[in-house]
Amino acid sequence: MSVVDKCSKCDAHCCRHIAVQIEKPVTNKEIDQVRWYLLHENVWVSIDHDGNWLLEFRTPCRQIVNNQCGDYGNRPAICRDYPGENEFCERETDDTSYAVLFTNENEFLQYLKKQNLKKTTLRTRIKKSQAKQKVQRNRYV
Ligand code: SF4
Ligand code: SF4
Repeated sequence: MSVVDKCSKCDAHCCRHIAVQIEKPVTNKEIDQVRWYLLHENVWVSIDHDGNWLLEFRTPCRQIVNNQCGDYGNRPAICRDYPGENEFCERETDDTSYAVLFTNENEFLQYLKKQNLKKTTLRTRIKKSQAKQKVQRNRYV
């Protein structure tokens, strides 16, 4: 089925939000910035399957008329290029395009907590493994 065929049967799903790539938050200041984004209604942050962080505004395009583009011939280049050659549009992939999705501050804080736990567990494992290796080395001297 061509993109046009699909689109004529769609409710302009991809025209109801915009997403811009942001830097992965690493410092406390950057993490706080993401918290601030997520405190706003209809603002989401996600990580895609390539590890890119995206800031998403869940707000429809003003050009939507009857679930179609009301100015199709004059639509911006980004709309013309979407979804790209041999790519699936989001109607076909739906929310599986997100590896991780935060729709509010709480989800983001829970994610950070889990990441910290993972790091701590990893550090503990490395320390245990190093201690084990040291014991084994001492046995052979
Ligand atoms: S989500 Fe897919 S099918 Fe729907 S309008 Fe966009 S490109 Fe067309
Ligand atoms: S300009 Fe048209 S194609 Fe582009 S987002 Fe708006 S409604 Fe969709």
